[in-house]
Amino acid sequence: MQKLTTRDVVKKYNFKFTKSLGQNFLIDDTVLEDIVSGAEVGQEDLIIEIGPGVGTLTRELLKKAKRVCAIELDYDLISILNEELKDFDNFQLIHKDALKVDFNEIIGTEESVKVVANLPYYVTTPIIAKLLKGSYKFKSLTIMIQKEVAERIAAEPGGKDYGSLSILVQYYCNTKILRKVPPTSFIPQPKVESTVIRLDRLDKPKVEVKDEELFFKVARQSFNMRRKTLKNAVKSLGVIDSDKIDEAFKAVKINPGRRGETLSIEEFAALADSIYMFKKV
Ligand code: SAM
Repeated sequence: MQKLTTRDVVKKYNFKFTKSLGQNFLIDDTVLEDIVSGAEVGQEDLIIEIGPGVGTLTRELLKKAKRVCAIELDYDLISILNEELKDFDNFQLIHKDALKVDFNEIIGTEESVKVVANLPYYVTTPIIAKLLKGSYKFKSLTIMIQKEVAERIAAEPGGKDYGSLSILVQYYCNTKILRKVPPTSFIPQPKVESTVIRLDRLDKPKVEVKDEELFFKVARQSFNMRRKTLKNAVKSLGVIDSDKIDEAFKAVKINPGRRGETLSIEEFAALADSIYMFKKV
């Protein structure tokens, strides 16, 4: 049987796109190939796909993976996906908001689990945060996201893109930008450019910290107050007495007059640990 294209399936079911659900479906075979090969999908893999749409990427994943579990929020897509992918016995579909899914229930005892998705852009950051902070045993996430978000994720210290999202992702993963994708690769065409990025989960976080929450809080606050010095950012956290702040910086040889965006992840870790040692009891 000849494979239907994304456009064919949309037409066959008279599917109406919902803009607020970030529905921009892929129509470019080269992007599909690059996502599947970039994710290194193999016969031992459980693939979790968030937002399968009409199943264009899902079909390619199903051909290569042991099992694909797709999570789709739009009710109108559920019957379309079940019909179009009915020939695959390794396909599982969950009709739910990905932000409300307990991924451990899907993963069960599977050993090799990868996330592959063309993410809905309006929830990219919350989905990434949930996937990484949830301590799920994913090997990697190969995701298509807005180009600017990918640049923020992979950014190095010192640049304008470097921020709390860079720290969050680089704490858990190595990052690799795989390719750019133009708006013409989708229907309807989004207003923004896209990027496929792969995040490989580290066996243990990049830096060891005494208090993870405090570490993220210090980083977030430093970037929230970009125009202020680190000392001011730390002061505004209110976790350490004012007269102890200089001591906390001195202990880790970090100049309190620096701006947060110049600190490496290792320096943020050292500073957060020092604040932890000096904090109010
Ligand atoms: N994978 C398809 C493709 O590449 O052609 C569609 C990708 S489209 C950018 C995003 C998909 O995510 C849509 O099908 C949309 O309905 C779905 N979606 C939006 N919000 C969601 C959520 N919170 N949970 C799960 N799926 C969601």
